[in-house]
Amino acid sequence: MQYRWLSKAGKAIWINCRGSAIYDENHQIKYLVGCINEIGKKQIADNVSGLLGETSFKNLIIPIQDDMHRGFVLRLGIDNFKNINENYGLKYGDEILKQTGNCIKEHLLNHQKLYRIVSDEFIILDLFGDKRDAKNLYNCIRDSITAYVESINYEVYHTLSAGALCFEENPTASYTEIMKWTEFGLSKAKKDGKNMCYVFKTEDYRKFQRKSELIKCLHQAVDHDFVGFEVHFQPIVQVDKNRITSLEALLRFECDTFGKVTPYEFIPLLEESNLIIPVGKWVLEQSIQAVCSLKPFIPDLKVHVNISYVQVLKTPILKDILNIINRYDIEKNQLVVELTESGFIESDASFTNFCKNLKENNIQLALDDFGTGYSNFHYLYNLKPNCIKIDRGLMQNALSNDYENLLLKHMIDMSHSVGVKMCIEGVETEIELHKIMNMETDYIQGYYYSRPCSLDELKYKLENHLIIKEA
Ligand code: C2E
Ligand code: CA
Ligand code: CA
Repeated sequence: MQYRWLSKAGKAIWINCRGSAIYDENHQIKYLVGCINEIGKKQIADNVSGLLGETSFKNLIIPIQDDMHRGFVLRLGIDNFKNINENYGLKYGDEILKQTGNCIKEHLLNHQKLYRIVSDEFIILDLFGDKRDAKNLYNCIRDSITAYVESINYEVYHTLSAGALCFEENPTASYTEIMKWTEFGLSKAKKDGKNMCYVFKTEDYRKFQRKSELIKCLHQAVDHDFVGFEVHFQPIVQVDKNRITSLEALLRFECDTFGKVTPYEFIPLLEESNLIIPVGKWVLEQSIQAVCSLKPFIPDLKVHVNISYVQVLKTPILKDILNIINRYDIEKNQLVVELTESGFIESDASFTNFCKNLKENNIQLALDDFGTGYSNFHYLYNLKPNCIKIDRGLMQNALSNDYENLLLKHMIDMSHSVGVKMCIEGVETEIELHKIMNMETDYIQGYYYSRPCSLDELKYKLENHLIIKEA
């Protein structure tokens, strides 16, 4: 038998009671022999909220798991619960848990069952309702919590997020999947801003799995001496001299599981996992080595290297750059650091400081994707980069729309008036090239001249004059 006792303080204590009956000669129970224990960690329900725990939920689901065509599971989690415990103490945390349990119970229908899964998470099981019922239930609970927070005069402002899984759309969900998918759902709701309910979609989960798998592959690649990574190089042409003056280093990644992956997908993952720190350093070194080995073709060749905001915020990047340059026989001004404004918005100071430090050390700076951020012009005057780069999207707009065309021309004039060079990226065709030539841009980069390619391929193209045809 398992049951609860209430302590003097009114707290529920879980008890396990087992024993045997001793019968007398008339087959009547004479006495019971056994023991009564507090269950401790193996508790069936939780002492703070008095609710049943995960084991009970599991026992209920397992026999019916393949046969659920209606209903939903709503997994609820208190947002920032750790902060509440840390700032107000465990006792206050317990109180918030109890009150949250009460707010939930208020809205439950007879057929809906409530469980407490881990410290700050609850699960509601409903075997009849649908998606709309799940959302409505969540909204009602959220309103109750808001009302409770108001009633205690905002002493603690706590909120609740939820992940809902509806069986109508996921009828084959097993117990393990229910736990995995609702966990994913709840953390997605928290990631998307908290105090909201996310309804599970298989498509989102697949994306999430792909992302986790890909991060694993990236980790493995870094652990195995960057196998699968390769740096490709794309020429940048100086318009007035019609010659290649620099290259942009562009990272590539390929692995057995995913084949070739685009940088638009893997760079953000490298950033999220901080792997961009070792990989970025490796790209820098590969790029400088490339410049050295291309000396016979173009002695004063520059290389543009994309540096991520993560490298700027979390590493002594300037020291690393200077270190690498010192180890090779190149001039400091042969390195151009490319930075994008995005990612820096909140931490302006490190961005501007880094740019100033680059200037002081005679390392060139290019602002990438210029014209897409908020404070681009402010940067133009403040940071005086050596170069700004316009991406293909903006260039295409300028070629198809008179207003945007004028805007781009003014942008070029303005940059020139403060001594900043302009590079237009993504020029693919001869027609585009001629239109762009009329704009007095300083540099052009694009498939028209060459796609990004490996160092060997680039050497071959340079040897055979395949990029810029001699006049
Ligand atoms: P980005 O820095 O703006 O690089 C230019 C992108 O435009 C490259 O895409 C390049 O292949 C592409 N491109 C060049 N010419 C043309 C053209 O004529 N037509 C079209 N349609 N596209 C052209 P890619 O290589 O896929 O790289 C995507 C982005 O990934 C880069 O954009 C950059 O933000 C990031 N990235 C690439 N390598 C690195 C790296 O080593 N470190 C960091 N932090 N980011 C990198
Ligand atoms: Ca770039
Ligand atoms: Ca760009």
